Amino acid sequence: MTKGNINVSVENIFPLIKKFLYSDHEIFLRELISNATDATLKLKHLTSIGEAKIEYGNPKIEVKVDKENKKLHIIDQGIGMTGEEVEKYINQVAFSGAEEFLEKYKDTAKDSGIIGHFGLGFYSAFMVAEKVEILTKSYKEEPAVRWICDGSPEFTLEETTDKTERGTEIILYIAEDSTEFLEESKIRELLLKYNKFMPVPIKFGTKTHTLPLPEDTPEDAVAETEEVDNIINNPTPAWTIAPSELNNEDYMKFYHELYPMQFEEPLFNIHLNVDYPFNLTGILFFPKLSNNLNIEKDKIQLYQNQVFVTDEVKGIVPDFLMLLRGVIDSPDIPLNVSRSYLQADGAVKKISSYITKKVADKMASLINENREDYEKKWNDIKVVIEYGIITEEKFAEKSDKFTLYPTSDGKYFLWNELEEKIKPNQTDKDGNLIILYASNADEQHSYIQAAKDKGYEVLLLDSPIIPHVIQKLETSKDKISFARVDADHINNLIKKDEPIISKLNETEKESLKRNVEESINDKKFTVQLEDLDSTDAPFTITQPEFMRRMKDMQATGGGGMFGMGGFPEMYNLVVNSNSEFAGQILKTEDNEKADLIKHALDLAKLSQNLLKGKELTEFIQRSYKQLEK
Ligand code: ADP
Repeated sequence: MTKGNINVSVENIFPLIKKFLYSDHEIFLRELISNATDATLKLKHLTSIGEAKIEYGNPKIEVKVDKENKKLHIIDQGIGMTGEEVEKYINQVAFSGAEEFLEKYKDTAKDSGIIGHFGLGFYSAFMVAEKVEILTKSYKEEPAVRWICDGSPEFTLEETTDKTERGTEIILYIAEDSTEFLEESKIRELLLKYNKFMPVPIKFGTKTHTLPLPEDTPEDAVAETEEVDNIINNPTPAWTIAPSELNNEDYMKFYHELYPMQFEEPLFNIHLNVDYPFNLTGILFFPKLSNNLNIEKDKIQLYQNQVFVTDEVKGIVPDFLMLLRGVIDSPDIPLNVSRSYLQADGAVKKISSYITKKVADKMASLINENREDYEKKWNDIKVVIEYGIITEEKFAEKSDKFTLYPTSDGKYFLWNELEEKIKPNQTDKDGNLIILYASNADEQHSYIQAAKDKGYEVLLLDSPIIPHVIQKLETSKDKISFARVDADHINNLIKKDEPIISKLNETEKESLKRNVEESINDKKFTVQLEDLDSTDAPFTITQPEFMRRMKDMQATGGGGMFGMGGFPEMYNLVVNSNSEFAGQILKTEDNEKADLIKHALDLAKLSQNLLKGKELTEFIQRSYKQLEK
């Protein structure tokens, strides 16, 4: 038997480890299972190259809770260690690693900016155990050894006959303050969180399996059962399989495996697979986003070599894709660094832009493959695409290929199709393309109708970030401008084939304007006379496009608009001087004019959703009175 002192200068390292990593104790299990996995895969490699002359078989890792004796066992059938190797890898490597770790994180570990995963390795066992025992037998023909350490720098190492099978068993004597790790339910939860997709089967308990009955068994025969290993993980998750070997069903199956509480099917999946200049695999899913923004719960998960690391992927995945779900597996993402460092890291930046590009390419191919299907799903994915357009330049550059512009009557245009379609009819005298849109089909119904009657195409752009998208499009594209259907300058913007002849002479117009202004007497409204078609509405309320858009942007935040409050309410009252009603105003007796104009203004307000409260009540009462007359 060897007794010795582990070569550390810190007097008692383990209480320190505990203290530093208080919140993250549970990762010890992930670390120990990672070691067991490594040991198993090393053996696989050695047998494959003929170095280890043994049958590889179907090795598994077993986790056993012994609540009564306050022990937790992690057993593998990997390469094991000789006595010499334990000296070298556990006493020297592992513990010098511990010391190095403490040295490195002395100052920063308390800083919450650090991501809570360090790749602690073997000694993380001491976060939950007061004593750790290793029983190990190497694949080489050498005796098994037992190593015990109680958390002081002293250890014992001796040969033993207690272990006859190849592999390593780690026994944790769980400390008083960590007894939660003796609960089966807790261990199951951790295994499912961190180890669900690890590459070696993990056994946790057994389950009853019903054997199939042979064809000719009588009806009342009772099926036989057997106890089988309960394997808790899927060693070959979909993202580790070549895309060509997977069909849609496989992806759906994997989605539900990843998010067992998610019942709705995702809309698309994107398989990521790159090995140069960095290593990354993964699958992203587009969930249906329209009504349920459940992003907090089912987030993208980050793995390293099939080991769960975190579902905090900010910085690695571009912001606009945080609404997606799925898995990213990359050994090239540094984890033991602060968030701000992560965002500045070159490899991470490349990963983020690779993902952006891949998503853009996928969208482009989806719309080409099945336009109809893509159109159907547009409503559920548009927020992600629009968010991408305003936040990621690289994505915006490609977005014309897959961004759809729906019209108020259910058609969908790509940008170039839209341009083509509206060019003849919606270009102003300077050659600018005027794109009309509505943000709410119901509220702006009368305006949409009026525009359509003139033969204009009206888009229905109703997501909350649309004002930002429009702003972005106007700056990135040449000679286009957007105007909401109730914007003030529509009538001037679009070139008319032939000017409309005025029905009123200048004197009549002047007195009409004065009549209206005096009657409404409200600074919010600028009265504006226009010669429109006689069939156009007599009174229309419009808003300056710019002002309204700024207000909208402010309401949805972002774009530097925060805190820029206080945009005044401003409206135009467009009076159609060619309407019958205009003539009627002029003809009406002075004492009745005000009522007539007030009533017409209320109607205009009504169609702009501006008539509310007391005004609305009075309007309704007045209207009933009229009916009674
Ligand atoms: P790391 O895994 O990062 O190398 P660890 O501290 O976890 O660091 O482990 C140190 C070394 O101990 C490993 O590199 C490995 O050689 C050995 N080791 C740990 N666990 C096992 C195991 N279950 N089977 C065989 N060797 C192991």
